[in-house]
Amino acid sequence: MSEAVDNNAVAEILDRLEGHYGPQQPGWPTDPYEFLVWWHCGYPASDAACAKGWDALNRSVGIQPRQILEAGTATLARALKAGGMVPELRAVRLMEIAARVENEFAGDLRAALVGPLSQIRKLLTKFPNIAGPGADRILLFGGIAPVAAVPSNCPHVLVRILHGLERENYNLTYSEAQHAIETSVAATFDRRARAYLLLKRHGQELCKRTKPKCEMCPVNSVCAWFAGKNRGRSAPPGGRNREGRRSDTG
Ligand code: SF4
Repeated sequence: MSEAVDNNAVAEILDRLEGHYGPQQPGWPTDPYEFLVWWHCGYPASDAACAKGWDALNRSVGIQPRQILEAGTATLARALKAGGMVPELRAVRLMEIAARVENEFAGDLRAALVGPLSQIRKLLTKFPNIAGPGADRILLFGGIAPVAAVPSNCPHVLVRILHGLERENYNLTYSEAQHAIETSVAATFDRRARAYLLLKRHGQELCKRTKPKCEMCPVNSVCAWFAGKNRGRSAPPGGRNREGRRSDTG
């Protein structure tokens, strides 16, 4: 069961992070289809790697479903090489995405993302490399639903600060962070996107998974992990551990 969350604590954490990093903007395309393409433009996936592959793909092929399908995997792989490893595999994935959007949704994925959230999630998680966290990210930044999305590569940030624990179980960590946002951040696109972006930046810069830079951290005075409360790893209550989790969007 999730522990109670102090709403004011989360608000203060986010204010401090914003004071330290400044207002954040998404560094990726927020349109759902474009995000799916962007996400496959780099590997290992990072904003910088995906941006490089995205630029190369735009220059040499284009990103519309028909342009991708007409280019074929060899041409796509040459463009995607700019984004890092396994360009051939990413080219195949892009072809899958483009074919599905073109054939099932008449080239317009955004228009298909309507109706009950559970249905939209189901549709999104059928795309390659999209699990729950990736679907949440698309829903929030695509302007579909102001869900409590959590950066998939750093759900530990809020859990460390609030509870002082490093969970072994990825799904538990994600759901605890999500619960904290759900109960403490207003359910508007602006507020939830702000929380996502600030936590993502903090997880990348200071609150890294290994060796967090606590001495330089703007929230260390309110961080349970830094205070040593419960510090350590909780026993996994079941399910997959971090190493066994699915690859997903961050
Ligand atoms: S004090 Fe350390 S563990 Fe706590 S939020 Fe900052 S970097 Fe992360």
